[in-house]
Amino acid sequence: MCNEEAVRILANEAPDRIADLVNLGVPFDTLDGKIDLTLEAAHSLPRILHAGGDTTGEHIELTLSKKVRATEIHVLEHHLAIKILIEEGRACGVRVLDCENNSIEEFGGSFLILATGGAGQLFSFTTNPEVATGDGIALAFRAGAEIADMEFFQFHPTALHLPGIIPFLISESVRGEGGILRNDDGYRFMPGYTPQAELAPRDIVARSILHEMEKTGADSVFLDVTHLPPHITATRFPQIYCFCLDHGLDITKQPIPVSPAAHYAIGGVRVNTWGETSIAGLFAAGEVACTGAHGANRLASNSLLEVLIFGKRIIEKTAGEDSSAASTLGQNSDVRLSPERRQPPGDKITPCLTTLQRLLWDKAGILRNEEGLSGAAGTLSWWQESLPQPKDRPSHELANLILTGRLLTEAAIARQESRGAHFRSDFPRSLPEWRRHIVIKFD
Ligand SMILES: Cc1cc2nc3c(=O)[nH]c(=O)nc-3n(C[C@H](O)[C@H](O)[C@H](O)COP(=O)(O)OP(=O)(O)OC[C@H]3O[C@@H](n4cnc5c(N)ncnc54)[C@H](O)[C@@H]3O)c2cc1C
Repeated sequence: MCNEEAVRILANEAPDRIADLVNLGVPFDTLDGKIDLTLEAAHSLPRILHAGGDTTGEHIELTLSKKVRATEIHVLEHHLAIKILIEEGRACGVRVLDCENNSIEEFGGSFLILATGGAGQLFSFTTNPEVATGDGIALAFRAGAEIADMEFFQFHPTALHLPGIIPFLISESVRGEGGILRNDDGYRFMPGYTPQAELAPRDIVARSILHEMEKTGADSVFLDVTHLPPHITATRFPQIYCFCLDHGLDITKQPIPVSPAAHYAIGGVRVNTWGETSIAGLFAAGEVACTGAHGANRLASNSLLEVLIFGKRIIEKTAGEDSSAASTLGQNSDVRLSPERRQPPGDKITPCLTTLQRLLWDKAGILRNEEGLSGAAGTLSWWQESLPQPKDRPSHELANLILTGRLLTEAAIARQESRGAHFRSDFPRSLPEWRRHIVIKFD
């Protein structure tokens, strides 16, 4: 399902973009004077850079935001984009809510780049931050952009599962460095599911954990690193080690309770390899975008690479250029959808963040089927119609989540097979005729 051109670009341009990060000062960990590389699930070779042990993202963000603050770029904090402005078919600006005084402002520009991140807040259990509310997907859809591959949402197999604690990611490299998954009875179960055991692709590990939890009646399994030398665990994974210790768990002595959590939106606003959407002047980069580089199942650590590579290509494309023509994205084999009004649900529960997250987790999560998905689509469609006009940040984000959830659910209903991160218990196999994309557009 991967877009081969996007994958080729990702692989070829990666060394230069990593070099950019090194030159900008990101302090990647080194060993004997060379950048140290680690292994993650489904990888054939160690190729993952890390910084501060397991605080890579933090180091990248801090380094880059410091650079931005040192320029004349005008950064507006606490401003929420609420509408893409279109004039004569071209994106010409954005309407914004100043969340501190609830006032509306509009900004114009030659180009608009969406970089609003993912949509993990669709689900009850997620590793994502609270800002991952699918805003960019919802805004782009309402503006008329094509949205693709929404049914593919990746669930990370191992988030910390402790009562009262929001799911905290236990990085895949913990398994890459030798961590073992055990069930409630202490039995190592992964080799019974697949020869790749703990290092199988994320969807397989997540589903295996779910089966194991069902079998034993437990609400988590355990990730065991107690056999690794304690100083290695504490220095290689300082953030995980300290976070668990702060919550009364010494991972060098006790196994870590884990369960799957929503992690990464593979689909999103459809773009070509220059980041162009189907609307002239509108670009998208990062998790909000769908370049096709991840196919139906993102490989660990390819998303930061994608952000860097395709973000840079947008800058190259727009520098000094007037992108007046909308890109050509359409492919003949796409399945095209325009979500229609659905039958309202019998049980009319009021929409709020918690009810939405529970609905999506239960009906459109790791295991899906026609009955659950159709019921969820009916509820979401009814919520879309019954929701009052959004006024503040929470109500805008809820409306965006409901729309994004609807797009995900409709795509998951349409794809009557299982492939990558999308698993239908009523259609458990991959079918050759489904080797095509589902593209949704506002009618
Ligand atoms: C715990 C965790 C660990 C991960 N580890 C890895 C890893 O090891 N390797 C890897 O490759 N990937 C990893 N990922 C995935 C990767 O981090 C994300 O895909 C990536 O950071 C997304 O970057 P982004 O710039 O697209 O979005 P983000 O970094 O999420 O930034 C989006 C920004 O847009 C803002 N925003 C959102 N909506 C609006 C709006 N309406 N108006 C204005 N602003 C808005 C948000 O506030 C936020 O600042 C991980 C993700 C998580 C959650």
